[in-house]
Amino acid sequence: MTNQRRATRLRKILAKKKIESLLVTNILNVRYLSGFTGSSASLLMLKDKALFITDFRYLSQAEEEVTGFKIIKQEKPLGQTLAKILKGVGLKELGVEEGHLTHKEFKALEGKLRPVRLIPTSGLVEGLRLKKDRREMAKIRKAASIAVSAGWQVISNLGQGLREKDVAAELEYQLKKRGARKASFEIIVASGPRSALPHAQAKDRRLKEGDLVLIDWGANFDGYNCDMTRTVAIGRIAKELERVYRTVLRSQKKALSLLGPGVKNSTIDKEARAVIKRAGFGKYFDHSLGHGVGLAVHESPTISRFKRHEVELKAGMVITIEPGIYLPSSGGVRIEDTVLITKNGHENLTEGFPKEMLIL
Ligand code: ZN
Ligand code: ZN
Repeated sequence: MTNQRRATRLRKILAKKKIESLLVTNILNVRYLSGFTGSSASLLMLKDKALFITDFRYLSQAEEEVTGFKIIKQEKPLGQTLAKILKGVGLKELGVEEGHLTHKEFKALEGKLRPVRLIPTSGLVEGLRLKKDRREMAKIRKAASIAVSAGWQVISNLGQGLREKDVAAELEYQLKKRGARKASFEIIVASGPRSALPHAQAKDRRLKEGDLVLIDWGANFDGYNCDMTRTVAIGRIAKELERVYRTVLRSQKKALSLLGPGVKNSTIDKEARAVIKRAGFGKYFDHSLGHGVGLAVHESPTISRFKRHEVELKAGMVITIEPGIYLPSSGGVRIEDTVLITKNGHENLTEGFPKEMLIL
């Protein structure tokens, strides 16, 4: 989709919400609308103008990348630059992204722009980002294939004595070697009892016989992410942990089998959770079932059972399905795939990596 079309869609939403103009400060939203891949810029969407504002460091990059916006050099703090632009425009209200502006920045803007009233908004551009277009899908698909291939290379060669940290470093290298710009996030490699910490960092611990090893990774390809987790065994593991593994896998497969347009995210979470509850592990699964993935690793929609997150899935959404069971002090299992919702169901982008338990 061209930047022009994205801007048109945003303007429609603004009109519907009766917001006459919007300041975009979330850098991923800036990228989505303008094509700019740098780390500092903002957009000003006025009724009849679209302005891209950045400081001297990024001007030449902006000239190369940005289309559909007039590029303006930010001379002073943003507030002063905006005040200069808005002088004589007669603007009454300016929408701002409340989640991407500190209280201090809000106050400073308010002071500089008076009498323009700042209207806090949230999720406007994020709403557009929910459904991926063809080009975005292609990038996520590519990120997923890089992650699967790099992951297989590293994980199928795991064995006793390797340090978690070294495994993470090797995996990151293999992602980059295959064309990823970077890992989507700090890779998690958590072994033995540490696999029961859902967000453990890779540490100095060495893998040993009887360990479960939980590896959570993703590739960022041209700005787009994927997110996947596999849990493998080093040698023979306790019977209880085998049962945990089978339960998580059943729960994940159940969730995947339900995916398609029109299905509520809460239904999927509840059904996947029910499998884990019935096996007696309900209290050991205490995070949401999944989340949206795209320019951000975690974005809307959240796949959870809570009313406040409830949405119907739509074709074009990309989400993760990642149930887990974490038994304190003995070990944890999580299995995660990145999945595209399609007209007829879903396409599992990371299914190239097997999910039957690997014993290494
Ligand atoms: Zn993950
Ligand atoms: Zn995830």
